Amino acid sequence: MDRSAHLLQEHGLRNTPVRRKILSFIEERKHAVSHAELEDSFKGEADRVTLYRALNTLEEKGIVHKVLDRNGIARYAMCQDACTVHRHDDQHLHFHCNNCKNVFCIPVDDYPMVVLPVGFELSKIQLSAEGICDICKQI
Ligand SMILES: [Zn+2]
Ligand SMILES: [Zn+2]
Ligand SMILES: [Zn+2]
Repeated sequence: MDRSAHLLQEHGLRNTPVRRKILSFIEERKHAVSHAELEDSFKGEADRVTLYRALNTLEEKGIVHKVLDRNGIARYAMCQDACTVHRHDDQHLHFHCNNCKNVFCIPVDDYPMVVLPVGFELSKIQLSAEGICDICKQI
């Protein structure tokens, strides 16, 4: 069984070709992928609605997470093991490349702990950084 199939099984999801292909596609890329990129790779094999649905399911189950790029476009990347159904716990930094606009998930050693004033409840901390990615840097 390949890794995508294994992930689906682990999360109690039916192993469909579309879900498997989405997962492999996301996993093979260094950056978080957009709908447009996925649609391109699926040309003719699955329609937009099917793709949206599959992505939503994968996100809901804690297999992939969504991050908005600087233009507000949703991009998807693989989750870490800490994510579970309806609860994402991806403790890493999102690096936004100012040139290609791609977003990269970057691990961080010490994730900040924040003590909030009384009465505040934390649901999520998002770390983000901007700059130039390694690919753009070489050009
Ligand atoms: Zn996650
Ligand atoms: Zn770049
Ligand atoms: Zn990420």
